[in-house]
Amino acid sequence: MPDARDGVDAAVTPLDGGVVLLDTRFDGRSKTVGVYLVPHAHADGRAGRFDLVEAGPAITFEGVLAAIREAGFAPEGLDTLLVTHVHLDHAGAAGAFAARFGCRVVAHARGAPHLADPGRLLASARRVYGDALEARWGGMEPVPSERLVSVDDGDHLELGGRSVRVHATPGHARHHAAFAWPDGSLFVGDAAGVRLPGSDVIRPALPPPEVDLEAWDETLAALAATRPSRLLLTHYGEVAGALDHLAEVGRRNRVWADTVLASLRAGADERSIALELDRLATAELEAAGADADTVARHLVTSDAAMTTSGLVRYWTTQHPERLALS
Ligand SMILES: [Zn+2]
Repeated sequence: MPDARDGVDAAVTPLDGGVVLLDTRFDGRSKTVGVYLVPHAHADGRAGRFDLVEAGPAITFEGVLAAIREAGFAPEGLDTLLVTHVHLDHAGAAGAFAARFGCRVVAHARGAPHLADPGRLLASARRVYGDALEARWGGMEPVPSERLVSVDDGDHLELGGRSVRVHATPGHARHHAAFAWPDGSLFVGDAAGVRLPGSDVIRPALPPPEVDLEAWDETLAALAATRPSRLLLTHYGEVAGALDHLAEVGRRNRVWADTVLASLRAGADERSIALELDRLATAELEAAGADADTVARHLVTSDAAMTTSGLVRYWTTQHPERLALS
């Protein structure tokens, strides 16, 4: 496995337009959970002001600060932190950034209250991770409400001399948002699924409790209509063929959802569905040439148990009529 300490994988990847991809190295894995640094239009190196898209988990906060420095910026230059949604891998460190640097934190209006008071978010994460929650994620500090900026679809933010458009992008979560820079760069969070370096497979990102495939299809159509020049995925990196990728995300979501539906209709329990999904997902990655590290990195972003749980909840709550045995 490439190790963060042996220098095999850089923590900092410069992209076109001055954007820098910072590797959080969450869970000791490279190229799995990213944070994007976007310099302001007139930034000049070390003294430059910049914005971040995504905060990463709280436990990787210091590592991300080191990556910001490695990219040639002082963390004190942070102006605005945008998070696509409030899940721990995207927004866990938001409160830490706000406390340390006094930055604004931008989130969709439905997600912002959970950043101000992460109690419910942490309680639901604790149901999944139990006592391992702090050791794995590092918890979550609240964002002071005076630092929070709630946004919704169609809002524009003035960031470093540019006008950034907010897209509400429900599907993965009701409060998910994507951010479009005027050069066509679209920061999509998990709205365009997961594609980790090491294979071309697009892995659906379908965790509980809010997966909504109909809303997701509308999100994908709306994002495609903006004709983005590139997608910036949190898991992980830049995708040039934006329209093909967005179309494929919708198809992939349906394939996995239909697999789970067929198993439910056949009377399978959640545990056996997860085992089957894990087997199929691993076989698919291996067929695409993924090595063991790439397979393991996919388990960090979206394991089969979580996906199964998300899809079972989707079918049972939103389409109970489809569960009837035919
Ligand atoms: Zn994620």
